[in-house]
Amino acid sequence: MKRIITFFASIIFFISCNAQNSTKNKPDMNKNNPYYSNSDTNKVVVKNEEWQKILSPEVYDIARQKGTESPWTSKFEKFKEIGTYYCAVCGNPLFKSNTKFESGCGWPSFYEPISKSSIIYLPDNSHGMKRTEVECGRCKSHLGHVFDDGPPPTGLRYCINGVVLDFKKAQEAENNYNKKH
Ligand SMILES: [Zn+2]
Repeated sequence: MKRIITFFASIIFFISCNAQNSTKNKPDMNKNNPYYSNSDTNKVVVKNEEWQKILSPEVYDIARQKGTESPWTSKFEKFKEIGTYYCAVCGNPLFKSNTKFESGCGWPSFYEPISKSSIIYLPDNSHGMKRTEVECGRCKSHLGHVFDDGPPPTGLRYCINGVVLDFKKAQEAENNYNKKH
């Protein structure tokens, strides 16, 4: 009996070790981030000490320390896929690809957020400039700034750090389209 228990205990130990390793080997932060959701609208209030353990250093620096990525470095800057951009920290839907435009400023630019709850606006008078900072409406992570030199219909330019964006292709819409045609 004791040998059987030892045998099962070692199997459980083996499985749990492998499970730990597989999450360690995959730098998919969504799986390691219990606050990430594309549908949950509840506000996320988490201390920076905890975010630091969950987020990659690049995302943490911009989202939680109000950093700025170097211009022309984001893969989303000239990205033209159809889909939705989410907050990379909490998964909140932020922008649709059809509101994205090429501003030439070096960062992914949009003229309109998905909804009012997508974004929070804050005055930013740092670096001797009067700007409006935009934060995620769900987790209050720093995203970038909004300027009033954008295209119609809003005339706004949301200048967003690509590092804090998470893109998902409009797969469902595509599938539905293919079924009908
Ligand atoms: Zn967020």
